Amino acid sequence: MGDRPLVGLRHDVDTGYDFTHGIKPVSKLEDRSDARSTFFVRVRLLRGHLDRVRVLEELQDDGWEIGLHLDNTVASPKDPPPQEELEELIQLGFRVHGVTPHGGLYGFQGRVTWEVMDSLGLEYMMGYPPFPKHHRTPIIGPHHTIDFLVKKLGVKMGVKALLQQLGSDIGERGYGVVLMHPLYMKFSVGPSLTFNAVRVSRRQGFRAYFLKQVDRGFKALYTLLGIRRVDEAYTIFLKETRERGWEPVKILDILKHARD
Ligand SMILES: [Zn+2]
Repeated sequence: MGDRPLVGLRHDVDTGYDFTHGIKPVSKLEDRSDARSTFFVRVRLLRGHLDRVRVLEELQDDGWEIGLHLDNTVASPKDPPPQEELEELIQLGFRVHGVTPHGGLYGFQGRVTWEVMDSLGLEYMMGYPPFPKHHRTPIIGPHHTIDFLVKKLGVKMGVKALLQQLGSDIGERGYGVVLMHPLYMKFSVGPSLTFNAVRVSRRQGFRAYFLKQVDRGFKALYTLLGIRRVDEAYTIFLKETRERGWEPVKILDILKHARD
């Protein structure tokens, strides 16, 4: 690996669609660029789905990393405790080194979520700024989400903005991190006019709910038309990363590099 700047590749596996449409295409693409990445998975997606477990097992055997995409980000008593999510994933045979928070159930709740993730005692954790002052688990980040950038700016400008942000992160701390949701290999991110809708939740009232439905409709239409999918952006991004002499790696490799 040498002294080349590292670019960590993170995927959050949120839905069954990621398994049917995203994970294999994205790992194939990475394999062609001689790259490896980390798939953070919600453990509930694996319950009763041996086929999905197999897909991830195969990836782990081929050098990819499997991490925990934590559902219970607030340690709510209404859902299985965070430690149980972790243990379930380990019991399935995965060597879990790190955790990322899932936004869909309880969401990322700042200090509370950082403390919950820290309590798992893993080798690293990832989340959103501001980063906590006191923590035992090393933090990897910040990260940039390629799907959001493509949605906001389109494929070409989105990748350009991403590379700029990575360049500045690399200048600052020697590495950068990219997040991509695998389902966007096949599903469009939709147009930028509904950009704000992707960040709002149902709780925020009818207008937000309506916007989200419009966003869904556009995504479906754009998917049918085959435009604004992230596969093209991700292909360009991997190529440009190599051309800059950066090394695309799984997240654990960044941690190892930081320790040296
Ligand atoms: Zn998620």
